[in-house]
Parts: sequence; structure tokens; C-alpha cells
Amino acid sequence: MSVEQRESLITAAFEGKPKKNTYSPYSKFAVGAALLAADGTIFKGANIENASYGGTICAERTAIVKAVSDGTKSFIALAVVTDVPSAISPCGMCRQVIREFCALDMPILLVPGDYPKPPGDESEGKPGVTAGGVKETSIGELLPDSFGPEQLELPRTGGRLTPRK
Ligand SMILES: [Zn+2]
Repeated sequence: MSVEQRESLITAAFEGKPKKNTYSPYSKFAVGAALLAADGTIFKGANIENASYGGTICAERTAIVKAVSDGTKSFIALAVVTDVPSAISPCGMCRQVIREFCALDMPILLVPGDYPKPPGDESEGKPGVTAGGVKETSIGELLPDSFGPEQLELPRTGGRLTPRK
């Protein structure tokens, strides 16, 4: 990912977050996400909540579902931004969905809501924190020892219900 792509992706994540895009009347926690596809397309997402709380869809999953339903399944990077002035991590459910479609080492940029932080900010020097206070991580780090599609390809034991003696 080039410096220009990184900046475009972060900008797109912010564009997902404004009130007109996010629907977060219950949590009042606006989240924007942007997913960079291998062909350079950026898919934007926002969190879309529901009065039946379980129907809520996070910004990360919104972006992934938009991309995949448009026929794109190859991604280079993901950026996530919220309303709070620190890097916020994807929830557990989103981590599993990211795991389905993204390489374990694909960059995930967790962008503070007040990005860019000035040089000398207290976040500077913390593990994974890069320019502007962005925490750079990956799904391999966020979801270690994860279950993924390749496990479903493993040979089966034939449905035995007792341990081998
Ligand atoms: Zn989530």
C-alpha cells in the first residue's frame, strides 16, 4: 500500500462516519470503515443499528458485504475510524468476518477520531502506532489461532463419537 493509498483509505473511512451515513441512534457511537480492494477501488461502510439490537451491522461488515456483493473478494487494507480520540478495534464478530475475506497479514488501520495526532502525542511509540496516531495491526494479530475456510477443507474422521482406543 502506497502512502497515497493509505491517506485515501483513511479519508474514505472518515467519509463513512458522518451522521448522514452512520445510523447509530442507540449506541451514539459512529463508526466509519473503508476497504481497499486489490484493483484500487475503495468500499466505504458505516455502522447501521437496529431497534432489535441483534440486527445491528458494524461499519467493517457493511464495507465487506458491499464489496463482496459487488463481486470483489481481494483486498489490500482496511481502515476503521470512530468518534473517540483513540484507535478502536473491530468487535469479535467483525474480526471473524474480516478473517473470511482478508489475508492474515493484511494491514488494518485503526484511526483515532482526531486523526492526525500531532508529533509528540502520548500514543507515539506505543506498539503498532504509526504516523498520525494510527494503530496498524492485522487480523492475524487481532484474531490469533482463528478458524477459517481452510479448516473446512480438512479430512474428516468419519463421524466417530468416541475417542480412539
Ligand atoms: Zn463489529
